[in-house]
Amino acid sequence: MTRLHFASALLPSGWANDVQVVVAAGAIAAVRPGAAPAAGDERHAIALPGLASLHSHAFQRGMAGLAELRGDSTDTFWTWRETMYRFALAMTPDDVAAVATLLYVEMLEHGFTRVGEFHYLHHDRDGSPYAELGEMATRIAEAAEASGIALTLLPSFYAHGSFGGAAPHHGQRRFICSVDQFAELMTASRNAIANLPSANIGIAPHSLRAVTPDELRAIIPLADGGPVHIHAAEQVKEVEDCLAWSSQRPVQWLLEHAPVDHRWCLIHATHTTDEEVAAFAKTGAVAGLCPITEASLGDGIFPAREFLDAGGLFGVGTDSNVLVGIADELRQLEYGQRLRHRQRNVLSGGAGRSTGRTLFDDALAGGARALAQTAVGLAPGARADIVTLDAAHPSLAGRTGDAVIDGWIFAAGGAAIDCVWAGGQKVVEGGRHKLRQVARERFNAAVRRLVA
Ligand SMILES: [Zn+2]
Repeated sequence: MTRLHFASALLPSGWANDVQVVVAAGAIAAVRPGAAPAAGDERHAIALPGLASLHSHAFQRGMAGLAELRGDSTDTFWTWRETMYRFALAMTPDDVAAVATLLYVEMLEHGFTRVGEFHYLHHDRDGSPYAELGEMATRIAEAAEASGIALTLLPSFYAHGSFGGAAPHHGQRRFICSVDQFAELMTASRNAIANLPSANIGIAPHSLRAVTPDELRAIIPLADGGPVHIHAAEQVKEVEDCLAWSSQRPVQWLLEHAPVDHRWCLIHATHTTDEEVAAFAKTGAVAGLCPITEASLGDGIFPAREFLDAGGLFGVGTDSNVLVGIADELRQLEYGQRLRHRQRNVLSGGAGRSTGRTLFDDALAGGARALAQTAVGLAPGARADIVTLDAAHPSLAGRTGDAVIDGWIFAAGGAAIDCVWAGGQKVVEGGRHKLRQVARERFNAAVRRLVA
């Protein structure tokens, strides 16, 4: 049992002072506001709950910053994707483990305590299945275990190169499964996470580009009640291709033909009409927004204000992992809306409300729903995922309550994070994960070889 004491902590009911948190067996056993620090309490200034990155492709951390050289033609998502394919095609299971371990270490250093890993790099470099079908899933699980991050594994079903069941192209060979093979892969993936106490599993039909309607119907039951994540309407070209195929837009098609409900998470949903936004918000499905990646790839800007006004719920994901940080994602989300509407504090939810606090609360709730976590936050029964901020950071000086979150998100960024407990284990101290050095050396060795 560990006893922590915080001068100030953000509880589900709001900010409280002098909060003692008792941790036992990886979970929060008790939360006692207004408690004087006791002998043996480990004392810190400011505590927040950890947040989920609900959408990650871990292997892409290895190519962060490598697609910033302009190509011959208009440089879009589709040219970035070629770089990504070249990188993906070269990686061994050891490379994936090295890259994922460093990524999860970095996520924890930035306050992400759970990751939704949308995992599609399944097969060997020539496209043939590994002797153990779940080889890559096992490596992801190992990385989660080593780092301490909680894992929601979302094996991705990927079968086609474009809408209407077009054949996949050669660059996609490591991603491709038949429905039967995917069912086996789900079994192998369940085995891969069996020994991780905080892990759970869902499914991720990759997109309407990669999955036919019949296949979608066939694989949804494999989620067995777990989350269902799908990329949708990230790109204008994708919307145009979907219209040509079905006379409907991707989000429209999903809402009319798939059983989209609170178990679902539509990743990006960038290009959605007012009608789609209203209907999407009503389903209880989460919008999985990845603002840094969407900006990096030139995708566009999600109509977040309209979605929230309609009662929609969002969470954030680090997606391509080109830059990892809670503050960075939430700041980019708000700044995109400011640029779009030419206003300030667009997502605050009303006059007198803190933008940072509203974004944080929304992302906590949306991340939890999207990854099927019923208990999150600093409350008894939740996994003990706790983040402390450095009260001595200049951008937090003199702040209390919600102003602390605003100072962190809009000014200090990740440098304000001091300690992180993941499942009750203190894995980050002074902003450094205990595995940082080892994970960096292993990552660097793998990436030096891959970029050579
Ligand atoms: Zn993605």
